[in-house]
Amino acid sequence: MKQIMILCLCLTCIFGCTAQDANKVSGAQKSNLKVVKSDSAWKEALSYEDYCIIRKKGTEVPFTGALLYNAEPGSYHCKACNQLLFSSEAKFDSGTGWPSFFEPASKKAITEVEDKRYAFTTYEVLCSACDAHLGHVFDDGPKPTGLRYCINSASMIFKKTDSKP
Ligand SMILES: [Zn+2]
Repeated sequence: MKQIMILCLCLTCIFGCTAQDANKVSGAQKSNLKVVKSDSAWKEALSYEDYCIIRKKGTEVPFTGALLYNAEPGSYHCKACNQLLFSSEAKFDSGTGWPSFFEPASKKAITEVEDKRYAFTTYEVLCSACDAHLGHVFDDGPKPTGLRYCINSASMIFKKTDSKP
């Protein structure tokens, strides 16, 4: 009888702890390389402007982004989770008013989802790790890919090649 009671206590503890973990959403969690945070945690982690663009799929005013004319060698990372997104080697001046790249650093770095908010078909570009809204991809880019990843400066941080990670 005593053994059964101990077993019951252990099971309660296991299920209790599991339920507690599932409810813990205030901080960042990394599982299967996904960064998961509650909406309020993202609000706290980002400035209001960045939050509107990154979590609410906003678009910065063209020709105003801090990284638009940046031509230094380095890498562009997700502002929300730091994942590498683009290399400066793929950046080009599209004349559209937003930082533009002809390819991501790797196909795994981004997720492309059809965006049905517009009359024409377009694809939204998201960070594959934290689902941050980055911008859109169009098929009017230069060689070698013919693609134009039109990305908000507000969604990225730039790291110079010689800067420490
Ligand atoms: Zn991210």
